[in-house]
Amino acid sequence: MNNEWESLKNACAACTRCALHETRTNVVFGKGSETAKILIVGEAPGEQEDLSGMPFVGRAGKLLDTLLDEAGIDKADIYIANILKCRPPENRDPAPAEIALCTDYLEEQIRLLNPRAIVCLGRIAAARLIKKDFRISKEHGAWFMRGETPITAIYHPAYVLRDPRKKGDVLADLALIHEKLKEL
Ligand code: SF4
Repeated sequence: MNNEWESLKNACAACTRCALHETRTNVVFGKGSETAKILIVGEAPGEQEDLSGMPFVGRAGKLLDTLLDEAGIDKADIYIANILKCRPPENRDPAPAEIALCTDYLEEQIRLLNPRAIVCLGRIAAARLIKKDFRISKEHGAWFMRGETPITAIYHPAYVLRDPRKKGDVLADLALIHEKLKEL
């Protein structure tokens, strides 16, 4: 796995497949344990992530850390990556063509990590990994299967920053994810 993982990381770091390579500061490949039980998948790097090259280091990332701690989920059990590895300018939504061009990297990350469960953060990751018409307000916390792997989605922490009333939903979903992991 190590050689394949390093090759993938290097290929991603040099990627010029879509126009986002022209405006990025850093490619944001992912962070966490390469033997993680859970793969968390967000949308795309933001400003702080683009500057640091690490996912979820800004305000939303700090909130995610707090929520995971409150739910009792051990960071050693987690790897975090995004659908897109480079920041869309002005934090706009990823374009479908960008997602299509970038998706091989995430698919390879999923294959190599072989997590016991996948947790999507927000609608865009869920629409790519679970089903196109995923409705986050109605289907967050529900479990689906992606091949052999259980997969679910929770509200994106950036959305919880905008609407703190959603924090209870996220904590309830994370508690169920914590329980589910004991079965897997
Ligand atoms: S977003 Fe993905 S496809 Fe586009 S340049 Fe970055 S790594 Fe390559």
